Amino acid sequence: MGLFDFGPVRFIPGDNRGRYPFCNSLYIQGERRIIIDPSSNEGQLAALRDGPGIDEVWLSHYHEDHFMFLGIFTKEPLAMSAVDAPALESMANFLDYYGITDQGDRAAWKEIINTFFRFQPRRADRLFGGNEIVDLGGVTVEVLRTPGHTAGHLSFFVREPGVLFIGDYDLSPFPYYGDRDSDIDQTIASVRCLRDVPARVWISPHDKGIYRDNLGDLWDRFLTVIQQREDRLLDFLAVPRTMGNIVEARIVYKKAREPKLLYDFGEMCTMNKHLARLIGRGVVTQEGEYYRLTR
Ligand SMILES: [Zn+2]
Repeated sequence: MGLFDFGPVRFIPGDNRGRYPFCNSLYIQGERRIIIDPSSNEGQLAALRDGPGIDEVWLSHYHEDHFMFLGIFTKEPLAMSAVDAPALESMANFLDYYGITDQGDRAAWKEIINTFFRFQPRRADRLFGGNEIVDLGGVTVEVLRTPGHTAGHLSFFVREPGVLFIGDYDLSPFPYYGDRDSDIDQTIASVRCLRDVPARVWISPHDKGIYRDNLGDLWDRFLTVIQQREDRLLDFLAVPRTMGNIVEARIVYKKAREPKLLYDFGEMCTMNKHLARLIGRGVVTQEGEYYRLTR
């Protein structure tokens, strides 16, 4: 079972250190028992289900590296944010939420999500609307609305042991806010919200997983990466550029990576968010295919 225990909270390490396509899960054992983000290890999750028991599955957001083993919980109700829930109701919705419009890309993604991630359309049984407090019987969870990474992203603060599950504001530091409804300013606001939570232990779904020290510097580094991307983009726009030029500049991923299609898509989506933000501020303008500085 999990390597670390914090009172009623158990850390379930993901395979390959919780790196994509896996993530670390969190098990909370009150009178009602919850598993958060079941994409860690199928055997351990099945053992929890069949051993101490699981009453409900919660998702921080709709991404596939957080729901890979959701399919083993057919009887347990699913709870997630009302904003993200439609993404899991059909493959078409899922691809729409990612902002994938090209038909060839949609077919390729569909194949991966169906076969590797075993996607099964699913309607959530319980919807979290905003911040709320859930009494599990003997342990209390604050459900925190932390939009930005996805529009309905949730984080979870287990009050009594002071454990905060930070979701995909995961300190790697690789902020991602490229989906259709993702948002840079909301990402920044959510990080500021999370750093104010009076936690004693911080759980990240990816990589290291458990942090016991104050995260001040790591939060700063996370926010700095966002600012550096924007600064580099502004430098690059010293002369007018097309989106093709911007993707080739590799401001996000730094170098060409395989599969190129996937990384180019990520690069484009992330840069689109920065461009929209800069256009909104009147710093950048678009003329035909070209983006350029307004002054
Ligand atoms: Zn994610």
